[in-house]
Amino acid sequence: MALAFDDYGRPFIILREQEQKSRLKGLDAQKSNIAAGKAIARILRTSLGPKGMDKIMQSPDGDITITNDGATILQMMDVDNQIAKLMVELSQSQDYEIGDGTTGVVVMAGALLEQAEKLLERGIHPVRVAEGYEMASKVAVEHLEHISHKFTFGANNIEPLVQTCMTTLSSKIVNRCKRSLAEIAVKAVLAVADLERKDVNLDLIKIEGKVGGKLEDTELIYGIIIDKDMSHPQMPKQIQDAHIAILTCPFEPPKPKTKHKVDIDTVEKFETLRLQEKKYFDDMVQKCKDVGATLVICQWGFDDEANHLLMNRNLPAVRWVGGVELELIAIATGGRIVPRFQELTTEKLGKAGLVREKSFGTTKDRMLYIEQCANSRAVTIFIRGGNKMMIEETKRSIHDALCVARNLIRNNSIVYGGGSAEISCSVAVEAAADKYPGVEQYAIRAFADALDAVPMALAENSGLQPIETLTAVKSQQIKENNPCCGIDCNDVGTNDMREQNVFETLIGKQQQLLLATQVVKMILKIDDVISPSEY
Ligand code: ADP
Repeated sequence: MALAFDDYGRPFIILREQEQKSRLKGLDAQKSNIAAGKAIARILRTSLGPKGMDKIMQSPDGDITITNDGATILQMMDVDNQIAKLMVELSQSQDYEIGDGTTGVVVMAGALLEQAEKLLERGIHPVRVAEGYEMASKVAVEHLEHISHKFTFGANNIEPLVQTCMTTLSSKIVNRCKRSLAEIAVKAVLAVADLERKDVNLDLIKIEGKVGGKLEDTELIYGIIIDKDMSHPQMPKQIQDAHIAILTCPFEPPKPKTKHKVDIDTVEKFETLRLQEKKYFDDMVQKCKDVGATLVICQWGFDDEANHLLMNRNLPAVRWVGGVELELIAIATGGRIVPRFQELTTEKLGKAGLVREKSFGTTKDRMLYIEQCANSRAVTIFIRGGNKMMIEETKRSIHDALCVARNLIRNNSIVYGGGSAEISCSVAVEAAADKYPGVEQYAIRAFADALDAVPMALAENSGLQPIETLTAVKSQQIKENNPCCGIDCNDVGTNDMREQNVFETLIGKQQQLLLATQVVKMILKIDDVISPSEY
């Protein structure tokens, strides 16, 4: 700050830009960052596991979302602290890479931060803590590999895949129907999977929902559904062996794009123009018929006169179909999207064994099913449910289940859930700590303690005594040398997760540990926070 005088001798103060910013340095910075990260983790902690709670989020325009999916909760929370944003990204990167375990990764990162805070207070340098965490995460990831199991599945033996998807779904609102939804998810993934290349293109699975019916009515359709109906109520509702023209060009007489002036001063001229337009459209319809199309699906609309004409000429059509849907229809039916009407040829038509319109409920609510497609590798999961929020949450839960099935096809190793893998890693990391002579061993032990946070949260959320339950399970694991002992959240009567069929994918669990460690290391290395001040 400096005092200066203007031309008239009046004093004023010069503030340098730096001083207008609020600034935190050193240990204060680290502590405030850790506090922010912990706060986020605390929010998600109660949502973890089969007995976890759901959250309601209201958007500024009043829409509400009910979910227990970590990535969704954080995305909607609209946080503005820098470190909190890092945690949001952490959960999202788990979502992009793996698709499941988004709550667990944040809980783990929160626990690591909590342990780091204690070490910092004891005077250990943050970089040493970060290094210790890095070593410990390596040990844990290797140990996971060691306790993982491979299982075999095939097109006829999908039970193991279904069981793993059921573990994912058991913590969601939809757990009432977890068996049927898990089967749907696995069948969908297997329908589009390339088992030789061990790859699954999830884009080929479309998830569609419609309010009404029951969750049990959710079905898998080997084909595409679009939320549209035939453009005219008198068009046929069912077309066998359809040849489909997929148009992204306007299906009506051309409209001038620039300003034109057409002088129409007599009735005859008007009549001629009208007939010309009609003929033009008539020719278009004829062209479709000539190439053999029995159904036209257009991205654009056409007017009522054209609609009437299409009905008269017996060429069913669907209008206003979205771009994404058109692409899926093209993939499924083996057709080509036609962007210029002149280019329509027989080879470009898509083929489907059956196209039918199905109505729901009592209102004008119809959907179009395109089934028995030429390329059967595009499927749709059609969700029914009582209200929009239920459908949205079911979509998210099915997405998680699809990701789990995909991960298993990529790599068929699993570890057991219910916190058992974390407890086993914690024991292994604790044992490894003794081998490191330096200060890092404190950080390695802290990592082992942080791993216990996941089973503790699971126990707490299920109404069990966290510390008692954890110590009992841990000693059982050591005594029986059984890495499958976890928290019996559902009170089934056994701690053995193998008997309870609670699995998680190995790559998902490894990714959780790696990502959580990475973010915590990043947060620990920040010792200066410069941000614009409040005023
Ligand atoms: P995330 O978004 O991280 O997947 P979830 O809320 O789905 O979080 O909870 C997953 C955790 O719940 C995992 O640690 C998993 O092992 C555990 N879990 C799921 N089902 C059971 C069960 N039936 N018994 C015990 N633990 C379970």
